[in-house]
This record gives sequence, structure tokens and C-alpha cells, in this order.
Amino acid sequence: MATVEGVGGPIDADQLGLTLIHEHFFSSDEAVSAQWPHIRDRETERGLAIESAKAVASHGVKTVVDATAMMLGRDIRALQELVEETGLQIVACTGVYTYDHLPNYLAFRGEDAMADLFVHDIEQGIQGTEIKAAFIKCAADEPGVNERVEKVHRAAARASVKTGVPVMAHSRPASNTGPRQVEILLEEGVPPERIQIAHTGDTDDLDYIERLLEMGVYIGMDRYGLNIFLPTDRRNATVIELLNRGYAERMFLSQDFDIPIAAGLDWYPPEVIEQLEASGASGGWSMTLLFEEILPALKEAGATDEQIETMMVENPKRWLTP
Ligand SMILES: [Zn+2]
Repeated sequence: MATVEGVGGPIDADQLGLTLIHEHFFSSDEAVSAQWPHIRDRETERGLAIESAKAVASHGVKTVVDATAMMLGRDIRALQELVEETGLQIVACTGVYTYDHLPNYLAFRGEDAMADLFVHDIEQGIQGTEIKAAFIKCAADEPGVNERVEKVHRAAARASVKTGVPVMAHSRPASNTGPRQVEILLEEGVPPERIQIAHTGDTDDLDYIERLLEMGVYIGMDRYGLNIFLPTDRRNATVIELLNRGYAERMFLSQDFDIPIAAGLDWYPPEVIEQLEASGASGGWSMTLLFEEILPALKEAGATDEQIETMMVENPKRWLTP
């Protein structure tokens, strides 16, 4: 039986069950919060995480894939405590989340040194624990696939080839990053079915999306509720059209819900969060939006239970297991 490394220990692939493929329980600007810990309110963060974990479990979710890597404030002990407290299965990652900047330690070393760090998390454990990473995160955004971003992608790919764990690449369709990201990962030898291009659902440009799908990768329709990037009705229409074109086996549904960002705990000052909420930009963003609004709407538009099961149970299992 294939297993997937979870925060609470290895999980039988068949026990992953209903899975949210891309969410964030704890995230922060780690450099700032290491230097000025007084800006963090860890008790509030912990309470909100427990609340969200219980809420998703009440909708039948068995596993949440937490896509929080370095520079998003990955905190494996906080996740461990959350798993112990709630019984939810959580899958953690290694990798670097950057659009451009790299800390000097990584800037002055090559791809292989970075890949070795990722392999350490996958084979030995994360942050001094024995909890192992089950996938590797990299990112490209508005600055495009620049030199630093390419380096992280090559390092992620090499660690993936060495260990067999999959790669999740944060992308920005509006900057056309996806095709180049896939190209680099393929060049380094990652099989397409181990690659997930996150945030592809931020566009409804079907030509762009099909170009990615034709390369054989998975795509994340994973930012439901972030109307600031694309409103729900256009996300739904895109998913329905792709289902009609036969791509159920290549799509993930999730929300990229980030508790600290949603609660204004770290990235943004409170007045920015208030503005976002007032403009409706976050559109009811939550970790349960899929179950409350999106899945019923998709079914109404013709998605079958079987297709939803494929996207939320079978695809996560297939992508996470070799
Ligand atoms: Zn994310």
C-alpha cells in the first residue's frame, strides 16, 4: 500500500479521502516575525486554525494539503499541534516561496545545494522534527520566471527526481508564467503527472489553460473566493467547460484560504483588510466556501458527483503517491 507522509505520520493513500489540495493554516513573514515576535498573536492564530480545521472536517474533509513553504512562515510544530488537537490529516511541504528575492545563503549557492535542503525535509524531517515533507513548493508571479525563480524551480525538480515526491508551482496566468514553469520542470526530468500548476483557475483563458493541460500536468482551480483575481461565476464556468472537454482527471478544487491573511494577522495592515472586505474583493473567502457554495453551484451547472470525487479524492491521491 502506498503511503503519503503526513504531519501526524504516514497516511495510507486510500485513507486520504476528501482532500483540500491547497490551503494555509499558519503563514507569516518569517523574517519579520522572528525579529519582532511581539507583532504576532499566536493564541489568536491557533484558535482560528482550530476553528477552520473543525469546520472543514464537519464537511467530510479528511486531509488538508498545507502549501506553506519557506518565506511564507512554515511552522511544522504549529501544524503538529493542530493535528493532535483536531485529528484532521495535514500534509506539509518543503520548498521556497519567492517571486524574486532569495536570502544570501541560497543566493550564493547553486541549485544542487538548495535541492539538498529540500531532500533533507523529505527524507529526514522538517525543522528538527521527524515530520516529513510530501511535496515541494516553488513559485512564479508578476516578476515572471526570472533567474532566482528559475533556480528554485530547478532545485525543486532535482529534489523531486531524487525522492519521487511531486512539485506544486504557484503560478500567475496574467503574467503567462505557467508554460515556462512546466518547461523547466520537464527539462529537469520531472514526469508531467507529478507537476501541479497552482492558481491556473485565476484565468478563464481556455487557450492558456489547454496549453498547460496538453503538457500533461495537473492544474489548480484553487482560489475559490479570491474574487480579486477572478470572480466565482467565471471560475465555475471555466471548470464546467473543462469538465465537458474531459479534464476531470487533471483538475484540483481548493480555496488557497490563508487564515492569517484573511484575518489580517500578518501581511496586510487592518485597514487594507477592511478595504478588501468592503469592496467584496475576497468574496466570502473561507476554508468551507467550496462546500457551502461552489460544489452545489457546479452540480447545478452539470458537474456529476463522480467528477467531484475525481477532483477532490482521486486526483490528490494520484498526484501525492508515486
Ligand atoms: Zn497558496
